Amino acid sequence: MQKEKLDCTWWELSNETLAVGVKTWAVDLGVTTALLDLDDTLCDTSALFWNAIEDYWRNMERITGGKQRLAFEECVKWWKGVFAGMREVFVVHPSITDYTAYVIAKEYGVRLGSRDLVEALEQLQIDIYYTEPTIYEDVDRTLRIFKQAGLDSRVGTIALEPWTWRKLKVIDRFSEEEVCCFEVTEPKQGQWVKGLRKFGVAGHECVIVGDNYEEDIVPMLELGARRGYWVAHGREERRLMLGVIRIEEFKDLLPAILSQSQWDWRSSLV
Ligand SMILES: [Mg+2]
Repeated sequence: MQKEKLDCTWWELSNETLAVGVKTWAVDLGVTTALLDLDDTLCDTSALFWNAIEDYWRNMERITGGKQRLAFEECVKWWKGVFAGMREVFVVHPSITDYTAYVIAKEYGVRLGSRDLVEALEQLQIDIYYTEPTIYEDVDRTLRIFKQAGLDSRVGTIALEPWTWRKLKVIDRFSEEEVCCFEVTEPKQGQWVKGLRKFGVAGHECVIVGDNYEEDIVPMLELGARRGYWVAHGREERRLMLGVIRIEEFKDLLPAILSQSQWDWRSSLV
């Protein structure tokens, strides 16, 4: 659903007015909390990886004296492929980043103890960890409106705390109690169980918003979430579980919610 396709007058209403629409929707649905994934839902984390992998790939090219054995796309494929059985997308964990980089280095025939390789790895970590991610359009406005509507926003993310807070600092809207970091080794549903416990909320009081269908949407729906908003980023069509709504980008979330709200926005114009 695109914002552009919706009635502009409707969209141009004030945050206060739109919050009434969100509140109506939340009360009808019986939810108090929006659970939000962070990486590639609120901010563009994949871009950090693409850039870092490109640097790493260039370093590999330099280290191997230009005798490149992997095209960049191949390198990315390797990056994703090493953990394909375990995780669907890029994983944000230093040990996994190191391990994946070593596997790729091996493919290049670079000795694991090579100082150049260590430097390339350090550079890769620096690129990923110290670059501020781009926050997606309308994240701030949506979170503001949720707050005004009395809907709690909580973040669950598979990443270490220090890096999570580096990214969240850019958004600057969350306190420690509102964020739960999951270990990459935790089973999919266990992650969100941990989140619900920390936030003191039941699954049926939540909606889930995330880009990872298997790890955000499915487990939370199984835990009772009333709606799942899958941020698809143009991914292939798939059969969706009952209660799941596909949106392309985060900016489509508010229109998707408001279009389901029983609230009559026209009444707020008079
Ligand atoms: Mg994600």
